[in-house]
Amino acid sequence: MAILPIITLPDPRLRQTSKPVERVDAEILRLLDDMLETMYDAPGVGLAAIQVAVAKRVVVIDVAKKDEKPSPVFLVNPEIIWASEELSSYEEGCLSVPDYYEDVQRPARVRVRHLDRAGATIEFDAEGLLATAVQHEIDHLDGGLFIDHLSRLKRERVVKKFAKAATRRGATAEARETEQAKVLDKAEV
Ligand SMILES: [Zn+2]
Repeated sequence: MAILPIITLPDPRLRQTSKPVERVDAEILRLLDDMLETMYDAPGVGLAAIQVAVAKRVVVIDVAKKDEKPSPVFLVNPEIIWASEELSSYEEGCLSVPDYYEDVQRPARVRVRHLDRAGATIEFDAEGLLATAVQHEIDHLDGGLFIDHLSRLKRERVVKKFAKAATRRGATAEARETEQAKVLDKAEV
């Protein structure tokens, strides 16, 4: 297994629509295992493949609490086939929008259809945090982010904040390279 780098806002790949998996083969199983390890390491409760820059409809989730035994959920080609009218609100965060949390309202219960690790079609009902996580991750597969559920003002504010931070990081990296180049120049002299 391997820990994969997680891409963050404003990386445009987060807005891509992920492609359905045609066959659950060894490559997909390895991706699921790597994603699970990456998610536990982060740590997070859910991860979609596009967050590790793989545009496939693959998701891992584990909503078990710290003192509970791990209960990983592996979803290939997941879809919501039913959602309750009743809504519930959770304070959501996202490994691709680090250190930002906001309340999001979503259906309280959903029924999910997906392929499991053996390639079999499975359906299950989810409620509570699992229902929120499933919907959050399926949004990712369609290029969505939880901030899309916020008011335009809040969304624009957070997008701007992350874009600015990325520019600053870029500028710092550039400055560091210039410094290194200077040092190299001196060394050469
Ligand atoms: Zn997310």
